[in-house]
Amino acid sequence: MTELAYLVDLPSAYVRTFRARVTALPPGSVVLDRTFFYPTGGGQPCDHGTLRSDDRNALEVIDVVKSGPAVMHRVHGDAQRVRSLEVGSEVEGTIDWPRRYRHMRLHTAQHLASARIFARAGLRTRRANLAGAGATIDLEGPLSADVAAAVGDDVRAAVERPEAVTVRWVPRAEWDAHPAAGRSGLVPLPPQVDPVRVVEIDASDVCPCGGTHLRSTGEIGEVDWLPLVLLSAGATRVTFRLKDPELPTPTG
Ligand SMILES: [Zn+2]
Repeated sequence: MTELAYLVDLPSAYVRTFRARVTALPPGSVVLDRTFFYPTGGGQPCDHGTLRSDDRNALEVIDVVKSGPAVMHRVHGDAQRVRSLEVGSEVEGTIDWPRRYRHMRLHTAQHLASARIFARAGLRTRRANLAGAGATIDLEGPLSADVAAAVGDDVRAAVERPEAVTVRWVPRAEWDAHPAAGRSGLVPLPPQVDPVRVVEIDASDVCPCGGTHLRSTGEIGEVDWLPLVLLSAGATRVTFRLKDPELPTPTG
């Protein structure tokens, strides 16, 4: 079993290096007792980075997936170097930060946009997907260009006047009775999820999520909105991109 250390609270999303113990070495992969590497899921791609047992032995992490209660870090490198790791030994993990930070910026912008679309048009998000420097939001119905433009203004306003983002663990019964549960209710939470990890953007949004997010909407930076795409059955796809994918991370 791997402890999902990036989930614990919001600041954990900013941890870039960590130490952990090797618990299993399936072919081509490393399993750790804890990890800050995000495994692919919920529309957010996995982290990349390195696992290092000493100065000479850095393994490149090229894919991270959840497999039951374990997280598999698939590594690139010759079998000999992978075999040099031992179960029980310690490694230092380092997250490819520019990649992860792009995902955090896109993911936080997506929460904000999905919330504003729900507030303005009553449309829920069917799925969201992040890749590279861009993201898509698939809505359950048609969105007008006017409302889309207003949502773009809403997101810009939250970048210029930053709102704090927090993570809370809420008992399931409390979440099910929460008035904000409707915005994300299109995709029901599995019944065994309790407590629920709820991501809150100050006055703008409350949404259950297991991804990694910014501590402030001010860090999203400028966003370009692409034309809306009509999907089948009246659904709409909203697409946006980070204007500067390499924006530096503010300290603090
Ligand atoms: Zn999220």
